[in-house]
Amino acid sequence: MIDLAIIGGGPAGLTAGLYATRGGLKNVIMYEKGMPGGQITSSSEIENYPGISVVTDGISFMAPWSEQCTRFGLKIEMKSVERVEKISNGFCLHFEDGSKQEAKCVIVCTGSKPRRAGIKGENEFFGRGVSTCATCDGFFYKGKEVAVLGGGNTAIEEALYLSEICSKVYLIHRRDEFRAAPNSVERAKKCEKIEFVLNAVVDEVLGDSSGVTGLRLSYKDGKTRQIEVPGIFVFVGLDVLNNVLSDNNGGFICEMTPQGNVKVNLKMQTSLPGLWACGDLRQDAPKQVVCAAGDGAVAALDAIEYLRNHH
Ligand SMILES: Cc1cc2nc3c(=O)[nH]c(=O)nc-3n(C[C@H](O)[C@H](O)[C@H](O)COP(=O)(O)OP(=O)(O)OC[C@H]3O[C@@H](n4cnc5c(N)ncnc54)[C@H](O)[C@@H]3O)c2cc1C
Repeated sequence: MIDLAIIGGGPAGLTAGLYATRGGLKNVIMYEKGMPGGQITSSSEIENYPGISVVTDGISFMAPWSEQCTRFGLKIEMKSVERVEKISNGFCLHFEDGSKQEAKCVIVCTGSKPRRAGIKGENEFFGRGVSTCATCDGFFYKGKEVAVLGGGNTAIEEALYLSEICSKVYLIHRRDEFRAAPNSVERAKKCEKIEFVLNAVVDEVLGDSSGVTGLRLSYKDGKTRQIEVPGIFVFVGLDVLNNVLSDNNGGFICEMTPQGNVKVNLKMQTSLPGLWACGDLRQDAPKQVVCAAGDGAVAALDAIEYLRNHH
């Protein structure tokens, strides 16, 4: 039985690994189904991580993180975890390849995945004008016109956020009613910089070698329109990667929010002692690298304390 298992090797998992091993835990394994680094490795630019003043791409930014952890003794195994089972003296990790590993405690950092809208050109121009994060990429469009796609809370909140930075925001939604909270919609309607483009779908993201140049839309009544913008922010939902916490009865081994995020307290403890959840996976996550890293540190420090008191 190992002391601590960390699931997911994004900013949260790697920081948990750093703090756990540097804090003296000897038998810590981080399981990552792909290459360590997490979602941010798909980004071409990160410029809001404190202390890193040079804009860098996600892969270069994350490369030293694993290096730093392994120096303190973190073991990294490229394995996909299928589920975590609670056993009497800890937890049992079941892997996709059929193998198992017992651990005294577990920090889960499996992150999330923004959904794509499935529009022509969306994948081609992803990271070159198509974004799923206004906090991350809004600043690159300072003083410019952008489009936001979606009708939920995130779309409205992000449109309002972008209206503070950009000269104009086209809010494109396929219906004329919103799923978002009515007061947020009201605030957006009062914002002079937001133009509501309703009953409309984006047929194609247009672009050239420099990136996105515009969008081709069609309205429910058959009319079409072209909007020239260098950026489109797609907010059509987010998949929280919470499968590893499923139990055998269609529920979860710990308490979750209705949206599928893990309920945690300020120590990142879940409702199950010895189990922590960090980063994009947890409730109310700001979905930023710096916050995920902070969560990982908080959980690892608490795991050290837990192991001291319980094992
Ligand atoms: C395109 C893009 C641009 C972004 N730009 C910025 C930015 O500029 N600034 C910023 O602060 N944030 C940015 N973000 C958000 C940021 O990347 C996330 O908030 C952050 O990565 C969350 O960290 P995490 O560790 O919680 O999860 P993730 O980064 O999602 O890492 C989770 C890891 O767990 C692994 N995993 C999942 N399931 C399993 C399993 N079953 N078994 C084993 N491993 C598993 C995944 O492979 C992944 O590596 C951006 C995100 C995207 C997609």
